[in-house]
Amino acid sequence: MDQVIAAVEAMGLTAEPIPGSLRTAIGVLGNQGYVDDSTIRTLPGVRETIHVSKPYKMASRDFHPEPSIIDVSGVRFGDGHKPVIIAGPCSIESEEQMMIAAKEVKAGGGQMLRGGAFKPRTGPHSFQGLGIPGLKYLQQAGKEYGLPVVTEIMRIEQLEVICQHADMLQIGARNMQNFDLLKEVGKTKHPVLLKRGMSATIEEFLAAAEYLLAEGNSNVVLCERGIRTFEKATRNTLDLSVVPLIREMSHLPIVVDPSHATGKRMLVPVMTKAALVAGAHGVMMEVHPDPARALCDGAQSLSGEHFAELMIEINRLLDFLGYS
Ligand code: PEP
Ligand code: MN
Repeated sequence: MDQVIAAVEAMGLTAEPIPGSLRTAIGVLGNQGYVDDSTIRTLPGVRETIHVSKPYKMASRDFHPEPSIIDVSGVRFGDGHKPVIIAGPCSIESEEQMMIAAKEVKAGGGQMLRGGAFKPRTGPHSFQGLGIPGLKYLQQAGKEYGLPVVTEIMRIEQLEVICQHADMLQIGARNMQNFDLLKEVGKTKHPVLLKRGMSATIEEFLAAAEYLLAEGNSNVVLCERGIRTFEKATRNTLDLSVVPLIREMSHLPIVVDPSHATGKRMLVPVMTKAALVAGAHGVMMEVHPDPARALCDGAQSLSGEHFAELMIEINRLLDFLGYS
C-alpha cells in the first residue's frame, strides 16, 4: 500500500486509502483526465485498477455539455440542423466520372460530395486510387456543383495536399487508431470525418476522437460504418444503437455510412432511413454514375437515379421527423 501511495504521489496526485473487509481500495484524486496506470498496476499486491474517469474527457458531454455544431464550408452538422447527406463514389476514377457523380449528387439534393483518391484496399492488386490527380478532379467537381468535398487521408505526408483540395478529411476505419495520423490531423483545424474502426468499441472510438480534440482540432464528425461480427450476410453489422448512445455520451455529431455497413445496394435505402430515425446528424452513401463498372464497391453503390428516388423518400421522412 505504501508503494502504491508513493507511486500515486510521484505523479503529483493524491492517494486516498478506503479500507474494506477483504481488501483496501486506494482512490486517486486530483487528476485532470485519464491516469496512466501502468506503473501502479504492476506493483505487488495490486489486484486491479479501475478507471472512473473516461479516456475521452474532451469528447464527452461531462466536459462539454452543449452539442457541437461542425461547419464544413457552410454545411452544418449537429443538433438543430437538418441531417447532412454526403454522397459520391467510393473512388475517384476520372475527371468525367467525378463530374457526372457530382451532378447526380447535386440533382438529388445531396449537400456534400465524397470520393477517395487514396484508397485503403484490402489487397494490393485492387485499384489503389488516382492519388493527387484524383484530388483535383474531386475539388473541381465540388466547385462546379457547389458541394463541399470529403476525402480520405491515409498518411501524414498527404495532409498538406488534401487540406488544399478538400473541405473535410476522412480518417477511415482502418486508421481510426493510427495515433500519429490523428495527432497530426489534430494540429490542423480542418474538419474531420472520423470513421469507427471495424472492431472498435464506443470507448475506443471516442478515445480516437479525443486525440484530435486534445491537439486542438474540435471540428470532428463521427461516422458509424458497421462493425465486424460473425454475420457474413452483410459486409459489416450496422450498429445503429451507437447513434443514440454517442449522442448521449458525446457532444460531437454522428453520421452513418449505410454503404460500407451493409455492402449491399438493396439494404442502403432502408438502413439510411433507419439511421435518420435513430437520430444521425447525416448519412454518407456511395453513389456512382455506373455502379456495374465501378472500380471499387460497385455492389453497395447506388446509381444517380436510385439516389434521386431515395432522396425523395428521405425528404419525406425528414419532414415527418420535424426537420424543415
Ligand atoms: C470509405 O469510406 O471509402 C472507406 C474506405 O470506408 P471505411 O474506412 O469505413 O472502410
Ligand atoms: Mn467504399
